[in-house]
Amino acid sequence: MSQRQMQGQPMIILGEDAQRMKDKSAQEHNISAARAVAESVRSTLGPKGMDKMLVSSMGDVTVTNDGVTILTEMDIDNPTASMIVEVAETQEDEAGDGTTSAVAIAGELLKNAEDLLDQDIHPSAIIKGFDMAAKEAKSEIQDIATDVDPDDEELLKKVAETSMTGKGAELNKELLAQIIVDAVNAVTVEAEDGSVVADLEYLNIETQTGSSAGDSELLEGAVVDKDPVHEEMPTSVDDAKVLLMDTAIELDETEVDAQLSVDDPSQLQNFLDKEEQQLKDLVDKVEATGANVLFCQKNIDDMAQHYLAEKGILAVKRAKKSDIEFLKEVLGASIVSDLDSASEDDLGHGTVSRDENEGLFYVEGGENAHGVTLLLRGSTDHVVDELERGVTDALDVVASTVANGAVLGGGGAPEIEVAARLRDFADSVEGREQLAVEAFADALEIIPRTLAENAGLDSIDTLVDLRAAHEDGDVSAGLNVFTGDVENTLDTGVVEPAHAKTQAVSSAAEAANLVLKIDDIIAAGDLSTSGDGDEGGPGGPGGAPGGMGGMGGGMGGMM
Ligand code: ADP
Ligand code: MG
Repeated sequence: MSQRQMQGQPMIILGEDAQRMKDKSAQEHNISAARAVAESVRSTLGPKGMDKMLVSSMGDVTVTNDGVTILTEMDIDNPTASMIVEVAETQEDEAGDGTTSAVAIAGELLKNAEDLLDQDIHPSAIIKGFDMAAKEAKSEIQDIATDVDPDDEELLKKVAETSMTGKGAELNKELLAQIIVDAVNAVTVEAEDGSVVADLEYLNIETQTGSSAGDSELLEGAVVDKDPVHEEMPTSVDDAKVLLMDTAIELDETEVDAQLSVDDPSQLQNFLDKEEQQLKDLVDKVEATGANVLFCQKNIDDMAQHYLAEKGILAVKRAKKSDIEFLKEVLGASIVSDLDSASEDDLGHGTVSRDENEGLFYVEGGENAHGVTLLLRGSTDHVVDELERGVTDALDVVASTVANGAVLGGGGAPEIEVAARLRDFADSVEGREQLAVEAFADALEIIPRTLAENAGLDSIDTLVDLRAAHEDGDVSAGLNVFTGDVENTLDTGVVEPAHAKTQAVSSAAEAANLVLKIDDIIAAGDLSTSGDGDEGGPGGPGGAPGGMGGMGGGMGGMM
């Protein structure tokens, strides 16, 4: 005892509640959490994938098939699991589609890494091998990809249709594909350096419930789902001079709330008159710019509404911020915050017309106008929301195809081909990294395997058939999930932009390596959500391992 004291007390640097996991148990903990997340979205992959119903803590319901939407709405609070959510978010930002694929690959990379760790292969060798494999995979994807003419409308439509297959947008995919391609064309410009870019800033999506998706349409200009503030106002203005405002037309709170003590009624009247006068002045300033239409992002005082109507100015209050910003593009206007400095130069020019039945304003810009609106329709909010997610993905892939000009056949074709090429490449890799490259190749095959599983097909038979077709030299041999046949998907019109695939490989590899680099978890608070203390092995597929305690309160039963 005394001897021990002489050596000094063990130094305690962590707080009482702190928990720590090191090396293998840290890795296992992290891998199981990450895999559980990946596993939770895998059943949605592909045309035959199922949807998920997400119920937020507020009771809002989302029904979706979209990977990134599922993961962001899941309310995950396990730190490692969140890294996988970030994969989906990166994929969404960079490619707009392929989020489920990216996450599934990341999960499978980690699963295979775990096997290597069990064989006592050092994480740094795995990380290095994964890096090499990712780089190689990306260049092989480029090699397989077919160049496309950005004006090839038929092909662009197929890209859009592939992205929408199995989503809420599926039923009307031909019509929607046409609209999407037209929309991208409408906003595609040639940049100064000669490259073509689809500037989706000039494209707005509006949703409208009540009719069917088949009535969706592409319109010039903007659509604003608002009513005029006063019934005496004009509702359509041909030669519109539009003022856009992002501040309210009302009196400052301080002026209104100021204490008022009056000795006789005339003083009160005086005060009210003064207020009225101030509002009148504000409206006069609107009129002085020459505006005959006003879209205001904030409130318009009742009295000001009355004066605006008197002057024959069409006014809309509480317009969406995104609508105001889009109107700015469509009309070439400036957004005014302070009426004192507003002038004719701030106005935008065009036409405003109203559809009384739908309660919508259609706003078109004059000469040199740019900007189109995709008006999506559907029977209910849930339907339109899922339609919008599907259409947004399709817009992104079409834009990406126009900009990058390369496509691949889908249905697991690129994954099988790249896996085969990576296995060849592995032969040239020395040391333990070779095993990691092979593990990477195997991981890519999670895509065709899952497509088959989700279609109720035998995944082993499917892999065997696919590999055989690729050995015979058909680089675009993919799975037709509807028939179970292996066919050239580039020919059958299942096409995806190459960019989404390279991005999925990059972000999956980066995330897997990020998780593998961690050998020590120090948690200031309770790590007990982890449950699997030291030796807790990972759950099998679908077995929610510990570490997910924080995953969406009421959602456990649905995964
Ligand atoms: P992600 O979020 O990864 O885009 P999806 O659910 O959209 O997930 O599924 C994409 C996968 O489905 C891709 O691998 C694509 O090739 C495949 N796919 C799409 N349409 C078809 C089809 N008609 N036949 C076979 N596979 C398809
Ligand atoms: Mg998709």
